Amino acid sequence: MNTAPTANNRWCGIHYQTFESVAAKDIHILGDAILAAPAMPKSGHMANSHAKVAAAAIVAQLSGLEANATPYLTNTCYSYVSDKMVVHVASVHQYLAEEKTYKTVPGSGGLSSEANTLEGTYAWNWAQNIWADSLG
Ligand SMILES: Cc1cc2nc3c(=O)[nH]c(=O)nc-3n(C[C@H](O)[C@H](O)[C@H](O)COP(=O)(O)OP(=O)(O)OC[C@H]3O[C@@H](n4cnc5c(N)ncnc54)[C@H](O)[C@@H]3O)c2cc1C
Repeated sequence: MNTAPTANNRWCGIHYQTFESVAAKDIHILGDAILAAPAMPKSGHMANSHAKVAAAAIVAQLSGLEANATPYLTNTCYSYVSDKMVVHVASVHQYLAEEKTYKTVPGSGGLSSEANTLEGTYAWNWAQNIWADSLG
């Protein structure tokens, strides 16, 4: 199998609709290793989102169905700036078939205006959920 980087001599190039490698058929690549689409952050949440699109595409392929033509990815990153105060940044990304890439959905997401304790609660609950979803 070709394991060399296929994008910018650094990242793994993929077909964004399915996350299948451009170099190795039936190999799907997730997370930080891929060439990010425009404005796509490299994050644990995004890697989890990649996995959902890839899994759905694999199931479709195995079932003889077309992959979802317009998958969406979501991202939220929380950062603790103290033991209780947190800020977040969030975004939603839609696959555009005509451009074969993801672009940020206009008006989606956002970021905290300032660090606050309420988001400390949200961050901890986000972490519990993403760990359970990713790690079982
Ligand atoms: C300081 C910091 C803060 C972050 N904060 C957030 C956050 O708040 N929220 C968020 O969503 N994301 C956050 N991220 C990003 C997140 O950690 C990454 O995007 C995520 O871990 C990517 O997951 P991955 O599985 O693609 O890669 P990784 O987690 O890097 O996993 C890759 C694994 O492959 C292993 N490996 C490498 N080479 C080989 C090899 N040749 N053979 C076998 N194994 C190999 C590595 O040891 C590693 O365990 C943060 C990252 C950093 C550095």
